[in-house]
Amino acid sequence: MEPKTVGKEKFFIVIRGKARKGFCRGCVGRVEAETQGGELMGLLYSGCSNAGSPKTGGIVRREDTYPLTRHQAQLLLFVSPASKRLELLCNPQLFSAICELSQDDLVVVKHKKGHLPGLVKNMMLIGRKENKDDLHMLGFEVEFVDIDDNLSSKKPAPLPLFSAADIVQVVPSYSVPLGLHWKDSQCGSLNRKAVTRINSMPNVGSRARQVRENHTEQSVIQSQSSSTSHASFEVGSMVEVVSNTGITVYGVVRWLGVPGGKTDEWAGIELDYDVNGCSDGKYGSQRYFTCKGNRGLFVPVTKCSPDSRFFCSSTGSETHQPTEAGPVSPFEDSDKDTPPIPESEASSLLVGKMKGIQGHFNSCYLDATLFSLFSSSVTLEHICQKPADTEKPITCSLRKIVNCLRRRGFVPAQSVMNFREQLGCDTFRTEEKDPEEFITLLFQKVLCVEPLLKLRSGQETSQGAYTFQIFLEKEQMGQMPTVQQLLDTSCLSSDLKFEEMPSCLMVQMPRFGNKYKMFSHIIPSTELDITDLLYNSPRECFVCGHLAEYECLQCLTDRKLQPGRIKQYCTVCNTQVHTHSSRQGHSPKPLAVPAEVSSDNPVPRHTMQLFAVLCIQTSHYVSFVKYGLNPHSWLFFDSMADRCGGDQRGYNIPEIRACPELGDFLSQPEEELARANPSQAPELVRRLLCDSYMFLYQNPATPLSKPNHQES
Ligand SMILES: [Zn+2]
Ligand SMILES: [Zn+2]
Repeated sequence: MEPKTVGKEKFFIVIRGKARKGFCRGCVGRVEAETQGGELMGLLYSGCSNAGSPKTGGIVRREDTYPLTRHQAQLLLFVSPASKRLELLCNPQLFSAICELSQDDLVVVKHKKGHLPGLVKNMMLIGRKENKDDLHMLGFEVEFVDIDDNLSSKKPAPLPLFSAADIVQVVPSYSVPLGLHWKDSQCGSLNRKAVTRINSMPNVGSRARQVRENHTEQSVIQSQSSSTSHASFEVGSMVEVVSNTGITVYGVVRWLGVPGGKTDEWAGIELDYDVNGCSDGKYGSQRYFTCKGNRGLFVPVTKCSPDSRFFCSSTGSETHQPTEAGPVSPFEDSDKDTPPIPESEASSLLVGKMKGIQGHFNSCYLDATLFSLFSSSVTLEHICQKPADTEKPITCSLRKIVNCLRRRGFVPAQSVMNFREQLGCDTFRTEEKDPEEFITLLFQKVLCVEPLLKLRSGQETSQGAYTFQIFLEKEQMGQMPTVQQLLDTSCLSSDLKFEEMPSCLMVQMPRFGNKYKMFSHIIPSTELDITDLLYNSPRECFVCGHLAEYECLQCLTDRKLQPGRIKQYCTVCNTQVHTHSSRQGHSPKPLAVPAEVSSDNPVPRHTMQLFAVLCIQTSHYVSFVKYGLNPHSWLFFDSMADRCGGDQRGYNIPEIRACPELGDFLSQPEEELARANPSQAPELVRRLLCDSYMFLYQNPATPLSKPNHQES
């Protein structure tokens, strides 16, 4: 291998953006420096015939790149054209398996005759290395496996060379040789050897593999796991099988029993996708079930474990279940809480399919809410922080979900179902609920946080609430109101004020689920100014800027006075405004002005920032989340974006999409937004405008620990 110049060496691949100074999609580069504004200055590798000599440098935005290790950069550099590199990245499971390949691992490669199985015999460094900045490309020498004779004898000819993109499958060792018969140790030593790692490269998934390699006797493995994982399987169970190379395949148990020639129990599994060498449900010459060709896998039942996409693997940490062998295992044993996902990591951790919280059985109201609240908001983290020793079991379940999301970027449906079952009422487990109802339960009973809002109605004492429901007459508003206008009008017409500045304000739009909505479109206010909605807080006269002493509800909608904004006046202006004949019927009300405030000081503004929006369309909830300060840092999350398998055995595929176009839209000035035509907006922007159900605002200035966290 190359000399160890690693240390601070960082590589990347350009994943989006227009061609710019040579950096186009698929280019591999090395970071030379990082600018303050989040841009990377880098060296660009051409990767053509003259190998990895760096061309000129250039600048690329960090969010347009994906970080690579040196090994990954070398593998991708050998792939051409560059677009095929991105295809490979889009298949993270296969790519991570390819990155972990070493000598004698079994793969299926694209070859002129089609797809052929072969053994990795050598990893070749390709290209000259004339100066220290050069980067070798990395390819695989593969020896083909002859299907008829199991493994062919050594061929004298030079072995063909393949790039990472030529590998279409890293084959689980259980289907070796390609006659798919599982060879147990006493009779299959040749074949076992064929897939045993010789020079295992260090990698994160190696722990469970070592367990198996240390106990080559089948019986040892059986006795280890027989009491744990397989006891509960039945036909129809969703399972996963981890190969010796650390690759996980998923499928459904179609048959259980002792096949001819065996003495222990085996499972016949229909895999979710084709794996070369698997059957159509036959084992040997005997048919046990029927499925598509290349999808039937037969393994000892001890090799199966519950499908970790449904069962969070952190629950089984005391056993040697293969679920732990996945590439995320180093995280699973940690008891430590994970902080909210930082802006710099959110898109690489979260964007993609099978990301976020996996929906299951009407859970979208809960998935969308939890993702909005806990993926990246630091303010919410501070509100919800409690010492671990006061924790109830349900709080613990929630903590697992939150940590799983922040570490892995994915929470399996089973974890959410466990949590739903603990919520107390059966309907939370089975039915589609209103997020508002769930939020109240979540903060009150699970997190034991005091009401987020203290509302004062008229002169009465305050009452607590966790969300704020907009309540008004449609006639009070224009066609396409902003959230700010809705909140102002609602507060004023119901005579409500906030007793104090909230740290989190969740505003519920005037609609009832999917059945009724008052406005066809609502414009999100990215910043909410609640200065004029705070009780007992100094306010500016709407006309002259001096300390206000009156406010007038009827002036709110006055077309000559900037309709929609709250109007408050000093004594002089109040008299003047209301001498106008059209306003003589108004009844301005005196404000509670703090006694000690001088009338000359400028009034400080109290603002909150939009950080998430829950939306509903055809009774399905999704959410938009702002994960950082950059105006473009928006994500769109759908816990049921897609589905694999139609019937009961199927499961939902959650998906997170980057949504920078929402940032573009919301960056327009307010007057532009008011004239916007939703039907011409990009798809996700249109969904936000049409389907918004709840807007979530936070006060970024919330102190690190709030004093009012008493157990209720
Ligand atoms: Zn005035
Ligand atoms: Zn008035």
